[in-house]
Amino acid sequence: MATAYGLVALIIDDHPFQRSYLKRILLKLSALEIYEAENGVEALSILKTAPKVDIIISDLDMPEMDGIEFMRHLASGYQSPSVIISSATESSLIASVEKMALEYGVKLLGIIDKPVDLKKLCLLFDKHHEKKAPRSALNNTFFDLKSILAAVDNDEFEPHFQPKVELATGRVVGCEALARWRHPEHGIVAPYAFIPLLETSKQIDELTIKMIKKSAEACKQWHEEGLIISVSVNLSLVSLTDTTIVDRITSMVKDVGLEPRYVTFEITETAAMTEVASSLEILTRLRMRGFGLSVDDYGTGYSSLKQLTRVPFSELKIDQGFVSGCSHNNTSGSIVESSVQMASKLNLCSVAEGVEALEEWDFLKAIKCDLAQGYLIARPMSNNNFTDFCKAAIKP
Ligand code: C2E
Ligand code: CA
Ligand code: CA
Repeated sequence: MATAYGLVALIIDDHPFQRSYLKRILLKLSALEIYEAENGVEALSILKTAPKVDIIISDLDMPEMDGIEFMRHLASGYQSPSVIISSATESSLIASVEKMALEYGVKLLGIIDKPVDLKKLCLLFDKHHEKKAPRSALNNTFFDLKSILAAVDNDEFEPHFQPKVELATGRVVGCEALARWRHPEHGIVAPYAFIPLLETSKQIDELTIKMIKKSAEACKQWHEEGLIISVSVNLSLVSLTDTTIVDRITSMVKDVGLEPRYVTFEITETAAMTEVASSLEILTRLRMRGFGLSVDDYGTGYSSLKQLTRVPFSELKIDQGFVSGCSHNNTSGSIVESSVQMASKLNLCSVAEGVEALEEWDFLKAIKCDLAQGYLIARPMSNNNFTDFCKAAIKP
């Protein structure tokens, strides 16, 4: 369930309970950013300053400025988000609200009863995505190396965090930091549009350093709020040619005030099997300094046990290609199970990534896999939303 993935939402309701109820639902559906307003006046002032809002969920009957008047103002503004009306109003009124929205040119996705039903809300989000389909194709835009490097300099990249949950207890114990480009025109851009180019041109170091710094800072902030969570950052092996990088990373993390044991570096299995001595030296030194080391995409690289033990890994991340369908596909199921057993024998924490279905969760729990990560739990989300997600998860 992640139909609000990447969306910026605005909730308008005069009842704090209704707002927090909707906010919790949107977080579960992985909204990127959520704004809240008590009435239409407040909502309009948020729209003036907030980045592009994709969806508004608004009550109808509110003091100061009600939902009807709000829609009239919205139609004349420069933002044109989709609107969902959530209302306890009887159905006779609803037809006229729909007609009015149409006349104003407001993109009304639909009207739902309070309390909001999750399934109905998801259907309306699907309608939003259908309408937006041509725009999301922008995420396929080709970016050249020069503009990517300029964006790195301009600090347009930020980590989004996807929770890692302990299968035995359901607790959030860690997360993976995934790079997102907050592009001034195209919105949030996914890694495939910039990582490969940075890697092949061997110019990924600056992004790596910035990702580590921002992730460590976020992690320190969670600890200060009582959320003791670790963070994993992806490390490209082309970053590992410069042997001074270990000192740079270590002092950066320590300067933030975070112990290295709360930071793990993920290296893909294929990259980790390198024979390059300097890379092995760097990985070993990172582990010596107390950082965690994880074999990412395990199962795709045909590594032997001997090769795996050459680097002092602390975690094994089983590739989503095997996890997906592991509960009903015998081959994937066996691969996942033997990987978990091997991890346990080597004293490595086992992580299944790409967990999308409850049956997969049950299977992984039964074979005693340690951690799970995937859309079933949550999509990657902004730091604010991730923090709220963790706080909501620890509430009794
Ligand atoms: P990865 O390290 O294997 O990260 C996991 C990817 O799977 C992420 O894609 C995540 O959003 C996605 N994912 C998580 N759960 C599920 C699920 O249940 N189902 C499916 N289908 N996918 C799921 P994302 O964020 O697009 O990242 C893609 C890749 O880009 C990453 O793969 C990683 O290799 C690379 N990457 C991302 N950030 C960085 C970075 O800061 N540095 C480097 N070097 N690479 C990065
Ligand atoms: Ca990874
Ligand atoms: Ca992976």
